Amino acid sequence: MTRTVRSPTDHVVVVGAGLAGLATALHLLGAGRRVTVVERDPTPGGRAGRLDLAHGEGSFRLDTGPTVITMPELIEEALAAVGEKIGDRLEMVDLHPAYHARFADGSAIDVHTDPGAMEQEIREKVSAADAEGYRRLRAWLTELYRVQMATFIDANFDSPLDVLSPDLARLGALGGFGRLGPRIGKYLHDERLRRIFSFQALYAGVPPARALAAYAVIAYMDTIAGVSFPMGGVRALPQALADAAADAGAEFRYGTTVTGLERAGGRVRGLRTVATDDPTADGDRLDADAVVLSCDLPAAYALIGRTPRRAVPTRWSPSAYVWHAGVPAGTGLGHHTISFGDAWASTFDEIITEGRLMSDPSLLVTHPTATDPSLAPAGHELVSVLAPSPNTEVAPMDWARIGPRYRDELRAVLAGRGIELGEPVAEHVITPDDWSALGLAAGTPFSAAHTFSQTGPFRAGNLVRGEGNVVLAGCGTTPGVGVPTVLVSGKLAAARITG
Ligand SMILES: Cc1cc2nc3c(=O)[nH]c(=O)nc-3n(C[C@H](O)[C@H](O)[C@H](O)COP(=O)(O)OP(=O)(O)OC[C@H]3O[C@@H](n4cnc5c(N)ncnc54)[C@H](O)[C@@H]3O)c2cc1C
Repeated sequence: MTRTVRSPTDHVVVVGAGLAGLATALHLLGAGRRVTVVERDPTPGGRAGRLDLAHGEGSFRLDTGPTVITMPELIEEALAAVGEKIGDRLEMVDLHPAYHARFADGSAIDVHTDPGAMEQEIREKVSAADAEGYRRLRAWLTELYRVQMATFIDANFDSPLDVLSPDLARLGALGGFGRLGPRIGKYLHDERLRRIFSFQALYAGVPPARALAAYAVIAYMDTIAGVSFPMGGVRALPQALADAAADAGAEFRYGTTVTGLERAGGRVRGLRTVATDDPTADGDRLDADAVVLSCDLPAAYALIGRTPRRAVPTRWSPSAYVWHAGVPAGTGLGHHTISFGDAWASTFDEIITEGRLMSDPSLLVTHPTATDPSLAPAGHELVSVLAPSPNTEVAPMDWARIGPRYRDELRAVLAGRGIELGEPVAEHVITPDDWSALGLAAGTPFSAAHTFSQTGPFRAGNLVRGEGNVVLAGCGTTPGVGVPTVLVSGKLAAARITG
């Protein structure tokens, strides 16, 4: 029996309409609570954000955050809470291949989530031995996911002792506490394949050579569980969740920033709010029986008024520099291309520890109009280039100066690798300073890194000692960063209220 907040919990105010806040709202509505969602932006989504760039008669409709969706069953679960299905709201298109990986030696490998297609790709492009190794890797990743999901991901912890279960021993027996890079190397000999199945450690903010093998669960989500794209862009996902919540009775207050919590009798009784676009005007007050804070972790602690002490300071994930461009049609790209540089281990060191831009960059190039051409005006395509970069704590950089030059450099690097993006007719750059301006700690949208001491029961919990009716949700708390995980975090936050 995990801890829950103290009654009453009839009216819950959720701060933030990002994916975590929206999942929380849906699960609370399903349990019969009255829900009000307060969001400072005019639209839902948060880091799964949106931006429209006007061009001629039309516009480029770009997603500023994730570019694909994995683990749709978690979306299904959130919608099921209010009696809905994904198909009622979203048209999801499965991506085949999930990724197209290109390497410095000019070779390329398609990453298929279908086992037969991936085995064949490896047999043709690499070797029969690695095709066999892939089959064993797939079985291992699938088992690793199964063991971790129930006990370590989809679970509320009240104490680190909560993970002392048979699954902990199973995870150990599966090699989950070894290192990721060497573990993948046990299955695959080809260096390119090893990169394909281990680069995801970067999402966890740790180099593959040092990351716990348990984090291969991200590779499971990315390379096995299926990768899809909602027509209309990833923004269609938060919109669908928000629409479903509104139809189930949630009240949404967009363009409204929460500035403080009001307490009486040892519990929060209300929230102070202001209009985001007029913060100096008189604000409003909103009554609440319980509050869920889904904003970035330090912002949530600021609202609470104190930051719980941790034995070691929080380590923040690396950040991302993203260049979005509307270009004339004809790039010939698939939905997702990972362009690997020749350098590997040094690349992680540069961005995570040395605080430098990658000298031989590995880049994610997304071309959403390959799947949904309606996201760009006729005759045009939308591309974005994501370059992992140091966060602002590891390396404060003059991004206003570096930003435009870096874009030119990345374009030249890609052109040198045979990826010609064409002359942009509209563009938008997002740097770590821009993530900072959104209030995200250390200028990273990827929150606290998934080091051992910031994972599972050691990650910042979703209950704060001494706060009887406040629950945290979102990527800073458990289980962690990413679309699937924040959907789970919303469910776990709701469970803290509903029991
Ligand atoms: C470029 C990029 C690429 C990514 N790629 C992937 C990927 O490939 N796969 C993957 O799984 N994940 C990816 N992610 C990560 C994923 O998008 C995030 O982990 C997730 O969306 C975070 O959701 P959240 O609800 O925790 O936080 P948020 O989305 O930040 O939601 C918090 C909400 O609270 C609002 N808010 C904050 N303060 C207040 C306040 N005081 N009052 C009212 N509202 C407030 C914010 O406006 C925001 O809407 C990516 C993110 C980015 C930016």
